[in-house]
Amino acid sequence: MVKIVVDPKCSGCETCVNTCPVCVYEMKDGKAVAVNANECLICRACEAQCPEGALQIVE
Ligand code: SF4
Ligand code: SF4
Repeated sequence: MVKIVVDPKCSGCETCVNTCPVCVYEMKDGKAVAVNANECLICRACEAQCPEGALQIVE
């Protein structure tokens, strides 16, 4: 299973929430949380779009 690492430097911009085609992310206390990691398609769109470089998809 894929592991999604959100670095604490996440600025809460919500880009990943709006980018992920299968709604893996939700915002909690101003940070992104990968609540549906088991749905991840490993498309890496979130990794590419995160302006902080805060996301890592680990296979
Ligand atoms: S795109 Fe990056 S900085 Fe923006 S909410 Fe997601 S993890 Fe945080
Ligand atoms: S890699 Fe793709 S499917 Fe997986 S969390 Fe990121 S945007 Fe969503």
